[in-house]
Amino acid sequence: MTPENADEFVRDLETWGRANRRSFPWRETRDPFRILVAEVLLQRSRGKTVAKVYEELFRRWPDAAALARTRVSTIQGVIRPLGLLGRAATLKRLAAQVVELGRVPRTLEGLMELPGVGRYAANATLAVAFDRATATVDGVTARVYRRYFGLADDLPATDDRALWALVGEVTPSKGVRAWNWAVLDLAASVCLPGRPRCGDCPLEKRCRWSATERADRVRPQR
Ligand code: SF4
Repeated sequence: MTPENADEFVRDLETWGRANRRSFPWRETRDPFRILVAEVLLQRSRGKTVAKVYEELFRRWPDAAALARTRVSTIQGVIRPLGLLGRAATLKRLAAQVVELGRVPRTLEGLMELPGVGRYAANATLAVAFDRATATVDGVTARVYRRYFGLADDLPATDDRALWALVGEVTPSKGVRAWNWAVLDLAASVCLPGRPRCGDCPLEKRCRWSATERADRVRPQR
C-alpha cells in the first residue's frame, strides 16, 4: 500500500533536488567502477573529504586494472585523509575482482559479492551507474523517510524492514539516480540530525515530525 502523501513527497523533493543539487565528481561520471569506488569511500566519510581523495585516486590510477596493480601501502597514502586505512586493501581486492570479472556486475547479488560492498553501496551503484529503479536507504537518508512518514528510528537502517519496505514503495520508477541524490542532499543540508531546518524544507507542510514538533512548541507548559 502506498504511504500517505507519498506522491507529494516525491514531487516536492524532486523539484527541490533539481534546484539544490550538490556537485561531486562521482556525479559527473557514468563509469560504474568509479561510482562503486565512490560508494565504498563514502561509507562513514564526508562527501567533501571523499571528493579530494577520489580525484587523486583516479588521477593516479584511472581504472580497475591500474588500481589492482598498486601496493596497498601506496593506496593507503592517498586515502589517509579518510582514516580507516583498512579500506586500501579492500579497494585493491575490489579492483582485482572487477578486472577478473571483466566489468562491474549489474545485479545486486553480484555487487554484494565484491569486497567492501554492502547492501546500500550495491543498491546505490545499481541506481546511479545503471539507472535501475532500486530502493536504497542508509543511516543518513533514513532520517528524511522516517521523519516525513513518522516511522520509528529504533533500529539500524540496514536492519529496519519497515523502512526498506516504505522506501521501496516510495522510490520513483524513473530518474532514480537524481532521486537518490535529492534525498541525500536534503539529509545533508536541511534535515540535519540534531536540529533540522524545517522552515527551509520543501516537505514541511506534510512532514509528520515537523507537525509533532510544532505542536509540542505551542502546547502550554504545565
Ligand atoms: S520538515 Fe523538517 S523533519 Fe521534516 S523532512 Fe523537512 S527538515 Fe526533516
